[in-house]
Amino acid sequence: MSKLPQVGTTIFTVMSKMATEHNAINLAQGFPDFNVDDKLISTLKDTAGKQVHQYMPMGGSPFLLREISRLIRDRYGRSCHPDNEILVTAGATQAIFTTIMALIGQDDEVLILDPSYDCYAPAVVLAGGKAIHVDLNEAYLPDWEAINAAISTKTKMIIVNNPHNPSGKVWNDTDLEALRSLMAKYPELILLSDEVYEFIHFEKKHLSAHFYEDLRSRSIIVSSFGKTFHITGWKMGYLVAPEEWMIEIKKVHQFNVFSVNSVAQATLASYLPVSNVGELKNTYRDKRDLFQQLLKASNFKLLPSEGSYFQLVDYSAISDLPDVEFCEYLTKNVGVAAIPVSVFNANGKDRKHIRFCYAKQDKTLIEAAERLCRI
Ligand code: PMP
Ligand code: GLN
Repeated sequence: MSKLPQVGTTIFTVMSKMATEHNAINLAQGFPDFNVDDKLISTLKDTAGKQVHQYMPMGGSPFLLREISRLIRDRYGRSCHPDNEILVTAGATQAIFTTIMALIGQDDEVLILDPSYDCYAPAVVLAGGKAIHVDLNEAYLPDWEAINAAISTKTKMIIVNNPHNPSGKVWNDTDLEALRSLMAKYPELILLSDEVYEFIHFEKKHLSAHFYEDLRSRSIIVSSFGKTFHITGWKMGYLVAPEEWMIEIKKVHQFNVFSVNSVAQATLASYLPVSNVGELKNTYRDKRDLFQQLLKASNFKLLPSEGSYFQLVDYSAISDLPDVEFCEYLTKNVGVAAIPVSVFNANGKDRKHIRFCYAKQDKTLIEAAERLCRI
């Protein structure tokens, strides 16, 4: 008996393994290949010599919680109570899983906008709920008419992701207004807002749910230090939730992980005050611009990359293969690994779009683009 009969191994694992086996440049799984800030490494070394090796308090190190609260106040003008409204998690994945386990019950429906990050739907299924998939529109922005039409008396939660993985799109203010109207129309609806790329957006401002009083009180907002400080392997993140839901979320968290890695928490508590999250978008804008410039000479058609660190391309001028097969071909024959977008669509819709991650050293992007320009 399988609890997840439709689920196999994640595409990230599959493509990274294939990239290693075929010695391909891995632009598939989203992780940086450059060094993290020296200050973070020296903070980690200093911290490891201190008394920080036993269990942290269940909800997180008080110092880290205070620093997260300060970050949210500085960035979003929101004051949240470190003890009652913030939870340190083992990455955004655990934050999302724990939230869904805590708040979704048997037969509850959860709206998921496809293409969607792969950890949402399985968590809903494991919680006994039902994932209702609604396609994003052609521009990979929410189709509010379709979303409204998908709401039923059983709808308990909507999961949104902005800036968006895999498309790299950033929502417009009209999208936020539509979301606020939806939430106002359905006062019982819970918003799970995955904002792991909150600091990586270029031309448009990121309109976080943190900004809006009416959304804050109805949202669980998820962040990832992995994305923000280039430390995806640390598996560190946090969520912010209203106290009444936080009580339920912590009930699950305490039996899921109890508390999160103490050395990483203590390190991040010391590093946050000396870090500058505002710089992140400049770093990635330069990488996006370089990668786009390099790919101009290729036969790929570039879609807008407004945030996150992903670039979608349309390969229909190069091949008729389905996107999964095309990514396999690229990895094995061209030496560059990418992610097929159709795997993020519950209905398997294949628009011949694949995703490259440009969180890479310039030399990696140059070498990858050289290969990609040959086909
Ligand atoms: N949500 C989205 C949209 C992601 O791209 C990722 C991958 N980083 C996650 C959640 C999971 O983040 P983490 O690695 O912190 O678990
Ligand atoms: N978030 C990363 C991506 O989208 C992958 C994380 C993972 O491998 N689970 O590529």
